[in-house]
Amino acid sequence: MGMFREGEWVWSFMWERAFNFSDFVNFVELWFVLYRISLRHSVSDSILWKGANAGKFSTKEMYSNIHKAIFTANNSPVAFKDIWAKGVPIKVSSFAWRALLDRIPTRENLLKRGIMLGNGGHCCPLCSCLLESTDHLLLLCMFSVKVWELIYKWMNISPISSVSLLEHFNEFVEQGENKKGKLMCNTIWQCVCWKI
Ligand SMILES: [Zn+2]
Repeated sequence: MGMFREGEWVWSFMWERAFNFSDFVNFVELWFVLYRISLRHSVSDSILWKGANAGKFSTKEMYSNIHKAIFTANNSPVAFKDIWAKGVPIKVSSFAWRALLDRIPTRENLLKRGIMLGNGGHCCPLCSCLLESTDHLLLLCMFSVKVWELIYKWMNISPISSVSLLEHFNEFVEQGENKKGKLMCNTIWQCVCWKI
């Protein structure tokens, strides 16, 4: 990672494999963070939250920062507030939140990070046909389509044709006629995604 030379810290990296393009982009980003940081002999390492509240970490502030980094004030979808519905287990909401942000480790997302998979490559494990993206896995795969068809039938609602997970979520929740109905639809949608 680096060493002291004549009292000055010098960064030095060694890599186990050659860079692909994605590694290179990540390294440039890392370098922009590191190049202004110089370690000092006399100062102990510490982790400091660079937010408000005198260096104290806050999950609320972190969540807000992630959203600010992804969305501008005008395009933050309502879905990201609704997803934390009362009564839905936190692991389910957390999964649904990450799925709506396309941050679950689908094979497509692994491929984007340069992770190569062996048997089955990057095909969806449910249909063994197409690339496993978040939208494909949870919405468009023939397996998932069948699951959603059964859910529409069970709930006696019209099929939703959206091919984007976020739009599908919004349209599905809108099937509830009032606040209680929307909460029920929200809960069902998240649980179906979780089970798929
Ligand atoms: Zn599939």
